[in-house]
This record gives sequence, structure tokens and C-alpha cells, in this order.
Amino acid sequence: MKRVINYSAGPAGIPVEVLEQARDEMLDWNGTGCSVMEVSHRGKDYDALHMGTMDLFRELAGLGPDYNVLFCTGGASTQFLMLPMNYLGAGKEADYVVTGNWSQAAVKEAKRYGKITHPADMHLGDGMFVAIPKQGELKLNPAAEYVHYTSNNTVEGTEWHYVPDVKGKPLVCDMSSDIFSRPVDFKKFSMIYAGAQKNLGPSGVTVVAVKDDFLQKAHDDLPTMMSYKVFKEKFSMHNTPPCFSIYILNLVMKWLKKNGGLEAMGKINEQKQKLLYSAIDGSAGYFKGTANVDSRSWMNVDFKLPTPELDAKFVSDAKAAGIIQTKGYRTMGGIRLSCYNAVSLKDVETTVQFMQDFKAKNPA
Ligand SMILES: *Cc1c(COP(=O)(O)O)cnc(C)c1O
Repeated sequence: MKRVINYSAGPAGIPVEVLEQARDEMLDWNGTGCSVMEVSHRGKDYDALHMGTMDLFRELAGLGPDYNVLFCTGGASTQFLMLPMNYLGAGKEADYVVTGNWSQAAVKEAKRYGKITHPADMHLGDGMFVAIPKQGELKLNPAAEYVHYTSNNTVEGTEWHYVPDVKGKPLVCDMSSDIFSRPVDFKKFSMIYAGAQKNLGPSGVTVVAVKDDFLQKAHDDLPTMMSYKVFKEKFSMHNTPPCFSIYILNLVMKWLKKNGGLEAMGKINEQKQKLLYSAIDGSAGYFKGTANVDSRSWMNVDFKLPTPELDAKFVSDAKAAGIIQTKGYRTMGGIRLSCYNAVSLKDVETTVQFMQDFKAKNPA
């Protein structure tokens, strides 16, 4: 058996130790004589796992009990509608910073529920985004119920390197593709959410952390499965939760904690991105980064080779060398290396060597 170096943008790689533990426990989890998929979600074994996973999330994020951890389904995409459904309505407004494909998708849903304004819209036309706005460029709407932004733009390879100051408005962030990749002051947010399948585990569960005071402002009269208040009151067990995804989320967070938490992960991720961007910048223009240098993402490293033919050859030669899923998003072309937490520093070192060899063998 051979594990590949996996640059998938999502669902992404999962740490090998986590997969091994899941394998070992597949037939007999926690002494139950069955897998975690086969026990009642109302039983004590699952309940301890479920509640423990919420606690572990708060612990890693440095959040207190005033934050409610919710396990939702339908991906981050369902948060695009659940959030405005819970807070907007006739006459209500919200601020959405537009920095990429996913923030545009969030706006599309929010518009169904209220008037949406943009503190900044970084769209350059033709689906192109290369930059994150600076604090001074943000024009906040005083009537907004909340301000929403996307901390890492998975498609375009840009990332916020600061938490914006939104002058006391509730701050909401889609952290799907950089959550727990480095320390962040999570207490600055009224709500964050993330589909698990990039940095936290498998698809199927979306983690939402929402502060009490903001949660209290959510509407009451909503369809049950769309109500943040119901998720809180029922501890995300009004219906059957995605038990297996939550179990893997738990194991991934234990792995994170064992390896030094967000602090340690941040140091590794910083080194990873430095190695990759140095390889790009040191290639005399052979590899060209697509994002503005000051907005570059640590998680999704996007670049182009001199021709689309060389991009395609890079993808296929990389695959032959055991480095997979390097192709850029369909609207972007080029190469995207998604270096989430499960991609090791050694994986990146191997990749940089591959890039240098490729350049030597395939002159422009
Ligand atoms: C992947 C991604 C999404 C969509 O997530 P789903 O779980 O597939 O709905 C939303 N936002 C960001 C930033 C993403 O990276």
C-alpha cells in the first residue's frame, strides 16, 4: 500500500493516524461491539462523543461556554441560507465582503432574505479575484445586522491575514478552508462556520460556533431544521446527527491537540507556504503566482506555468510521481496546491523538489 501526497481542495486528506484509528475501531468502537455508525445517537456512548467533540472544539478555539457549538448538515453552502434566514427579513440589511467565488455564493443566498451591502467587492471581472481588502478600504453599512466575510478563498488562493474591525457589529466568518490552520482570536466573532471536509475531517458535518448574545437575536419562527435556536436547545440532536463525520472530526481534533494545537500547526503551515511561494518566486517567472503577494493564502497555493499545455503536463507528471489533485479550479486553470493540515512539511519538501525537476526537464 502506498499513500499519495494529496493536494485535494476538498474533501481533503485526513491524517493517517486518524484513518488508522478509525480502521481499528471499525468493528468494535468503545467496547460496544459495533461501529460508531451502528449505535443509537441517543445512547450514552454516542452522547459522550458528541458532547465531548463540542467541548474539544471550544478548547482548541480558546472559546468559553458563551459559545455554542452546533453540528449542522448540508455543508457550508447551507449556512449561506441559514444565516440570513435566522437574522434577516423584510427591511433588514447585512454587510457581505466579496473576495471570491464562495463569498459570492453566500451573497446569492443572503439576497433572498434582505438587502445586502458590500463593505468591499474585490471582483475584477471574469470571475477574477486576486486581493483581500485592507482595513481602511472597508465601507461598513451602519444598518447592517452583521458583517460576513470568507477568511480564505479556496478557489482564488487568497486569505485574510487580519481579522477586520467592524466597529462593534456582529462579525460572521466562513472559515471552511482555513479553520484551525493557525491561531486566530475566535472571540472576535459572533459566529463562525466551516464545512469539515477541508481542515477538520470528512464531509457531512458543518461546525458552527455562535456566541450566546448573537444566537438570542435569531428569529424564533423558522422551520425546525433551519433554526439555530433549535440546534442549540437540542444540542444538534433534534434529528439524527452525522455520527460518523462527528466521530472523525473528534479524532482529527485529538490529533491536532496531541501535535501542539493551533500554535504548532500554524508554525508548520507557515513553513509550508514559505517553501512553496519561494519555489514560485525563485523560478525566474517559470511559475507565476496568481494572487497578489500580500493576499496570498497559506492553504491554497495557486500558480500557472508558462502555457496551459505545461500546466496539464505538470498535473499528469505529478500524478505519476504520487502527487495528486494538483489541478486548479475549473475557472482558474493552472495549478492549485491545497496544503491543509494533513499535508506535512515533508510532503511539501518533496513537492518543491518535483517542481524544480519539472522546470529543468520542461523549459518554457
Ligand atoms: C468548500 C467551501 C464551501 C462549500 O462547502 P460545502 O460544504 O461543499 O457546502 C464554502 N465556503 C468555502 C470557503 C469553501 O472552501
